[in-house]
Amino acid sequence: MTTRKPLIAGNWKMNGLLGDGAALAKSLTERMGKGGETASLELLVCPPFTLIARIGEVLAGSAISLGGQDCHSKEKGAHTGDVSARMLADLGCRYVIVGHSERRTDHGESDALVAAKAAAAQAAKLCPIVCVGETESERDKGRTIEVVGRQIAGSVPGGSGAGNLVIAYEPVWAIGTGRTPTTPEVAEVHGRIREFLTGILGAEEAQMVRILYGGSMKPGNAAELLALADVDGGLVGGASLVADDFWAIARATPK
Ligand code: PEP
Repeated sequence: MTTRKPLIAGNWKMNGLLGDGAALAKSLTERMGKGGETASLELLVCPPFTLIARIGEVLAGSAISLGGQDCHSKEKGAHTGDVSARMLADLGCRYVIVGHSERRTDHGESDALVAAKAAAAQAAKLCPIVCVGETESERDKGRTIEVVGRQIAGSVPGGSGAGNLVIAYEPVWAIGTGRTPTTPEVAEVHGRIREFLTGILGAEEAQMVRILYGGSMKPGNAAELLALADVDGGLVGGASLVADDFWAIARATPK
């Protein structure tokens, strides 16, 4: 019997200004208040850097966690435009997404850099959500498991354990496209990720690490995906910007 508490995380990406971001967060706190889901589910929002302080104020006193979308690998210094994990922690963040495919593609982030960012997050007492996933051509060539295995091996820092690591499997071709793998395909990759983690962390820790699915998760497909044995929640992009949709995904999480 596993006791992994499902995590539904909203990645707002580069969306939201002060007014609409605060309104979205407020409507989630109102739903969370009514739903009483807190014992069985963790809800997280990851706004852009510019909104984190304001959203933190709106979420104060609620059971919804706050996270960043990226952090620098260094604690501080001459890195114009970057934000450290400690700065995120200082604003009340508990999580930070690292290695999102949009960072890997837009900013050329390697597995080694993602591992360094995840380690920096852990040093700042944040839990990194380490993203992995294959491109469409890698899937077409039958290389999904190989690619994901290599990303896990290269992106998970030493010293990780169930208390300071979340993995998100996000097929690149499913992000923002409305397309998803079939549920057997998702089940297979999540099962293999847990095997890879077992090789790195040992069976006991690996069994407790939460592995999220991300890529066009919507109210209409969430229940089926979240019911899979090794799917411990979702990393939700577009649908996290609509309170009703994000909440419907949270409600689809099996109790
Ligand atoms: C994401 O960006 O992490 C994501 C899963 O996006 P979407 O839900 O829009 O596919």
